[in-house]
Amino acid sequence: MLTISRVHTFYGHIEALKGIDMEINQGEIVTLIGANGAGKSTLLMTICGTPRARSGRIVFEGKDIAQLPTYEIMRLGIAQSPEGRRIFPRMSVQENLRMGAITADPQYFEGDLERVFTIFPRLKERATQRGGTLSGGEQQMLAIARALMSRPRLLLLDEPSLGLAPIIVRQIFSTIKEINQQQGMTVFLVEQNANHALKLAHRGYVMVNGVITLSGTGQELLSNAEVRAAYLEGG
Ligand code: ATP
Repeated sequence: MLTISRVHTFYGHIEALKGIDMEINQGEIVTLIGANGAGKSTLLMTICGTPRARSGRIVFEGKDIAQLPTYEIMRLGIAQSPEGRRIFPRMSVQENLRMGAITADPQYFEGDLERVFTIFPRLKERATQRGGTLSGGEQQMLAIARALMSRPRLLLLDEPSLGLAPIIVRQIFSTIKEINQQQGMTVFLVEQNANHALKLAHRGYVMVNGVITLSGTGQELLSNAEVRAAYLEGG
């Protein structure tokens, strides 16, 4: 579904991604783990076109999107829930969801709204409440729900567990699994919480300083000695 080849991304003269190769197949949950500053968010954002890859190819469903503007990439069927959630704090839950649906055909709005309210019943209870008054976990749910409202075929999630209590993290991860299993949604999950992410994902990649150093199934990476030492033990 998505094939990334030899992608390099720079911030000024700093090379944040140094030749990334990665593949995401339809129906998979693929995770990218790595330390703070490794370049994980940069890869997710490069898929969305901001920042633009300086070189390399990003092919989504047969089309090279590496040099397309972000709005066109979104329109092709990719949506992201960004790091730090970035919901609209002064808008109600329902208005936030309407913003997510802005590129979708309006005829689907009511049905899609019901669908995300079924996945996230808490959001239905809070439909008229302002986004900024929700708890951290609810804001994360809203960010994912908003992304779903654009009817993507590929959902990109940047650190959905960031700053959330363990019980809420478990809830969010089980919802991601549900969205993948029940709707066949393909998910690319960037996470520092390697343990949860690798348990959930079909496959994973490890990034160190802008380079992919390891890849394998979630189970393989969970039992890999290097991964255990760097990302799982004590953390
Ligand atoms: P985190 O979990 O902290 O978000 P990450 O693995 O997602 O980490 P990135 O945020 O992609 O890492 O950052 C990769 C590198 O690029 C880091 O060295 C970071 O300092 C640098 N960087 C990120 N954003 C910018 C920017 N807007 N301008 C300049 N350098 C940046």
